[in-house]
Amino acid sequence: MTKHVYTFGGDRNEGNASMRNLLGGKGCNLAEMAGLGIPVPPGFTVTTDVCTLYNQAGKQLPADVVEQIKEALKWLEGNQGRTLGNAEKPLLLSVRSGARDSMPGMMDTVLNLGLNDATVEGLAKASNNPRFAYDSYRRFIMMYSDVVLDVHKDHFEEKIEELKHKTGKKLDTEITAEEWKQLCGEFKAIVKAKLGRDFPQDPWEQLLGGIRAVFNSWDTERAIIYRRMNKIPDEWGTAVNVQTMVFGNMGDDCGTGVAFTRDPGTGEPYFYGEYLINAQGEDVVAGIRTPQPITKYQAADSGLKSLEEVMPDVYKELYDTCQKLEKHFKNMQDLEFTIQQGRLYMLQTRNGKRTALAGIRIALDMVKEGMIDEQEGLKRLNADDLTQLLAPIFDAKEKAAFKKAGKMMAKGLPAGPGAAVGLIALSAEEAVALAEKEESLDPSKRKGVVLVRIETSPEDLAGMVAAKGILTARGGMTSHAAVVARGMGKPCVCGASSLVIDVAKRTVSVGDIVLKAGEDFISIDGSAGEIYAGKLSAFPSEVNQVLVEKTLKPEASETFQRFAQIMEWSNKYRALKVRTNADTPHDAAVARAFGAQGIGLCRTEHMFFEDERIPAVREFILAKDEEARKAAVIKLLPYQRKDFEGIFTAMNGLPVTVRLLDPPLHEFVPHDEKGQAEMAKVLGVTIEEVKHRVEKLHEFNPMMGHRGCRLGITYPELIRMQMRAIAEAAINVSKQGVKAMPEVMVPLIGTVKELKFTKDQMLDEIAAVNKENGTDFMCPIGTMIEIPRAAITADKVAEEAEFFSFGTNDLTQMGFGYSRDDSGSFLPEYVSKKILEDDPFQSLDQEGIGELVRIACEKGRKTRPDIKLGVCGEHGGDPRSVKFFHRTGLAYVSCSPYRVPVAILAAAQAVLEEKK
Ligand code: ADP
Ligand code: MG
Ligand code: MG
Repeated sequence: MTKHVYTFGGDRNEGNASMRNLLGGKGCNLAEMAGLGIPVPPGFTVTTDVCTLYNQAGKQLPADVVEQIKEALKWLEGNQGRTLGNAEKPLLLSVRSGARDSMPGMMDTVLNLGLNDATVEGLAKASNNPRFAYDSYRRFIMMYSDVVLDVHKDHFEEKIEELKHKTGKKLDTEITAEEWKQLCGEFKAIVKAKLGRDFPQDPWEQLLGGIRAVFNSWDTERAIIYRRMNKIPDEWGTAVNVQTMVFGNMGDDCGTGVAFTRDPGTGEPYFYGEYLINAQGEDVVAGIRTPQPITKYQAADSGLKSLEEVMPDVYKELYDTCQKLEKHFKNMQDLEFTIQQGRLYMLQTRNGKRTALAGIRIALDMVKEGMIDEQEGLKRLNADDLTQLLAPIFDAKEKAAFKKAGKMMAKGLPAGPGAAVGLIALSAEEAVALAEKEESLDPSKRKGVVLVRIETSPEDLAGMVAAKGILTARGGMTSHAAVVARGMGKPCVCGASSLVIDVAKRTVSVGDIVLKAGEDFISIDGSAGEIYAGKLSAFPSEVNQVLVEKTLKPEASETFQRFAQIMEWSNKYRALKVRTNADTPHDAAVARAFGAQGIGLCRTEHMFFEDERIPAVREFILAKDEEARKAAVIKLLPYQRKDFEGIFTAMNGLPVTVRLLDPPLHEFVPHDEKGQAEMAKVLGVTIEEVKHRVEKLHEFNPMMGHRGCRLGITYPELIRMQMRAIAEAAINVSKQGVKAMPEVMVPLIGTVKELKFTKDQMLDEIAAVNKENGTDFMCPIGTMIEIPRAAITADKVAEEAEFFSFGTNDLTQMGFGYSRDDSGSFLPEYVSKKILEDDPFQSLDQEGIGELVRIACEKGRKTRPDIKLGVCGEHGGDPRSVKFFHRTGLAYVSCSPYRVPVAILAAAQAVLEEKK
């Protein structure tokens, strides 16, 4: 018989932290805490396997599972001395979700299950507190209806608002027992009206309904979006935890809260949290009442009363418990607790979500504190997070000027660090629509969107994804908005209570500053919690200021020091080299400052596009014969040579892989009447001639047309000019003591003969340059591998190629047969329908395209054992792909300058992950 149900707490603790896959994160940690002697209300966990069984059975609980639930319940009743449904001593339960990886707020919870018209009376009598009993009952009816019966909680909230309005009361805590009782009646009537049947009074039916609903919540849209964003497999399923209730809503010696062992926003090593007196469950995160700080330190001069002051003994116990758990799990913990009549109960612990910056700080601090070693510290980091250390921040001077001009609208909580600017969107739909409208624009022209809400709920997820930043008027550091924004790495300001959001008038205002949604800019500083009317400009990060701009001293920036520490450790372990894709001396210098060990891809086409050069390029394109083409192309030589001199100088002593011209020529000619007329004038030809040539360049499928090495095969003078520019530039800068190390690669070859032809031209040109200068310049000549045919004939290709550089963008395009420029219309659906795991242009398809890479490496090495192998597609900056390239034995990856640190860390993690 398979065990489907595991008890925790009391005298039968069947699980522990190692059983995460089976019991889910919440369930296994409840058992672990109970095992450590920490007060946890007992209960039982229905395993994640049951979630799968349940779905396979068409959303039915298998009979043996129901039997085991009954048995566990019996044990629990015995343990508590209470019985489910018993009118005098009712056992009340919570039914909680709990996946392997926490998905905060994504799935459902039901509290106070077991209450009905009879047991609520029993509870009132036994507790001698009818107010508490009816408060619990109305919560239960509302939650159960919302989660299980699909009657939205808004219907109930409306009733509460009505009552408050009628009685002039503001807070839930002011509502009396009688009033709650009356509301319970109204709530039940709502359910009856909506469903045509009574609210279920049978606690056993309630329990099974609750368990089923939690399993169902695994497949809600928001849970699915969240999983996709966080790469959590759909097959994992959730567990269900059924737990004895403890009550934070019994009076002023009760409360509930959440805590972090370190600040999840900044990573500072301070105990941190929020709580509410006389409250239950979600009250703290729901933003209904503004929560109070836990520590005196946090309360500082806010005038709020901290738990440390209000209940010093409970505080002390909480603090000690949290520290114990952090030491035990060797990680920052995010904890949930409830205080019932002065007694502390722990309801959850997990490794806390944190901002990128906090994650980095906490990992490094824990190494310093000796809690973990440096290898573990590196493994803990999320390589992508490093981009946030490099992300822009607002210019302090401009901020000061805005403040002075009265344009700082409000202050809220710094819930997610970073700077965000954009147009105001007042709903998730609006944010999505605004962002979609901008997608077609050039990135430099996009305005961005900031989602501004009173508070967010899981339904806002799509809008949060679309927005650059999130601003809420209500809610604390642990509110939904804050937690989700931090998870997404988005700037977020919460609880800016002075903001007036008028959805009807579509305005956001404070005093006489009034901003219009969809029209006006708002700027939020998620590190400082500040909100500005208008558009602030962003400023380079501290790491940039130290390394690139050199305007900040390393010792003045802790952020920089952390960055440097991570790079230092990573460099110790990694085997892969990291180069950059850069076409300008500036980009090359930035990347070098970030640690790039050369250029893996220097595209030459941008050098053709600049204003003063484009006429010569067009003259070349229009030329009627070889002579005319030669005359045109030679005009480009001085420009191209100068570009290379700049780049070789910036990369002095490091390799620079230059790619010969790649794009189809039609990209260089104007397609509009006006441009064509101008081109005709500059070149002294008729507009008809221009039109004719442009028409001739038209291709049905330019990505598979006349481009790459095919250009040089039809127009050898083009590659000869490029080769000459490279050789002469190298010779010139070497006279200034610069060590130029060009490597030249031929793009888009499918057969070795294409390479051979091109290479012969190049060698010939090099010989000519050497002869003219009396030099002996030489450089490695290799090829890109980006056509499947080249990959599978790599043994032949290697006869001519001294190195391979995998162009994984084109290799993906050609390997799948997906046009990268047109895949937007179907790839997202492929991912959502799980035809593909991921967008293969973002993360390498290891199974197919990766196999082409592997075959090419193997075959290439067979012909030329010391062949140098690298990658220059976008995938060079994607951590998962980088790890694959490491395992495949490549020598280097190349990526855009701002991803160089990401690749460096991922390369080190690849080595450390192999070790275990
Ligand atoms: P989530 O996964 O969304 O955090 P939880 O299952 O942790 O949902 O439940 C949310 C909140 O409900 C908890 O933080 C806690 O305050 C309350 N809660 C859950 N179970 C109990 C319980 N047995 N007794 C008292 N409160 C509970
Ligand atoms: Mg929780
Ligand atoms: Mg290519």
